[in-house]
Amino acid sequence: MSDAQKVNLLGLPRPMLEAYFESIGEKKFRATQVMKWIYHYGVDDFEQMTNLGKGLRTKLSECAEIRDPKVVSCDHSADGTRKWIIEVASGSCVETVFIPESGRGTLCVSSQAGCALDCSFCSTGKQGFNSDLTAAEIIGQVWIAAKSFNNVPHKQDRSITNVVMMGMGEPLLNFDNVVASMNLMMDDLGFGLSKRRVTLSTSGVVPALKELGKYTDVSLALSLHAPNNALRNELVPINKRYPLEVLLPACQDYMNGLADKRRITIEYTLIKGVNDQQQHAEELIPLLKNIPCKINLIPFNPFSLSSYQRPSNNAIRRFQEILLAAGYNTTVRKTRGDDIDAACGQLAGKVQDRTRRSQRYLNQTQLINTKQLPV
Ligand code: SAH
Ligand code: SF4
Repeated sequence: MSDAQKVNLLGLPRPMLEAYFESIGEKKFRATQVMKWIYHYGVDDFEQMTNLGKGLRTKLSECAEIRDPKVVSCDHSADGTRKWIIEVASGSCVETVFIPESGRGTLCVSSQAGCALDCSFCSTGKQGFNSDLTAAEIIGQVWIAAKSFNNVPHKQDRSITNVVMMGMGEPLLNFDNVVASMNLMMDDLGFGLSKRRVTLSTSGVVPALKELGKYTDVSLALSLHAPNNALRNELVPINKRYPLEVLLPACQDYMNGLADKRRITIEYTLIKGVNDQQQHAEELIPLLKNIPCKINLIPFNPFSLSSYQRPSNNAIRRFQEILLAAGYNTTVRKTRGDDIDAACGQLAGKVQDRTRRSQRYLNQTQLINTKQLPV
């Protein structure tokens, strides 16, 4: 069998791997053994799977493979942040970032090459959209990072304690592959992470949000960024299709459907003079009144195609204090890894844009720079 015809076992959910073994005339429990080799020990060579008989090892190497996406580069920041550039099957590159903090290590994972949604402050959006990542390409990012730390789930002192789908792409627009890979992150035979520490971040694709609870119980973060529809329509254009009055109840329904009590994370990117004024903070207070949540303020990270600016530290503190005084658990995200362009919203990868959006933005910026357009 040629390599192209081999079944990639990386990223196959447990029931599908069991079905695969049955389909090749083997017992289901082989899936348990192989998953442990893949995710607990980082093994990709069937020959090393010593509790499988020789015959089965040979059969597997003929018809299956464990293939992770290709690492193009890995940068280390002065503050301990690491960034991998990963090439996916479509030929585009995506980025994965590891952020160490005291007592935990968070891996920020991409779900798509580019993004179709075009939020006005996001560098991924400016590159247009190329492709959905496969489940192997999504879980493969965790696999690659875990292997680089020699990080296996049964070790107590693991480096990766949290995963957030906050890299490139809108996870809910690549539903099946994101759900399959996030369930593997939480599966004991996968990476065994706590469901409280595996978080899907969405800009608000309501129909998919309504389906999510049927398939997984990951934690949820909502990219809110504005306290009213008029401003959110500008910053997060998908709001025109799914405005706050349908989005917030859909988030609440998802959280209410979880077996345990958890808070949704509200992400709010603060942009100078756009959504960072006292009135915006005050408008958030009644909007979020009935939603058990924690608020994470993200100071805008500049990038070349955007003229937005980051607010001053004082402005950020004032915004935070209004929310704190109203009783909201509100934190400010520290910028990490900006010396290697790994900060939130700076993830650019290298997307072979199918929407021509990237060229449009580039043309606009060039015109602005050469003063042919009024700014
Ligand atoms: N598409 C998903 C997940 C990826 S974006 C979503 O929108 O939630 C992850 C987070 O980074 C989002 O909250 C997004 O709003 C934020 N972000 C994007 N660009 C940013 C920028 N330039 N500065 C700061 N945060 C940004
Ligand atoms: Fe896409 Fe999220 Fe960026 Fe919006 S913020 S363009 S949804 S990746």
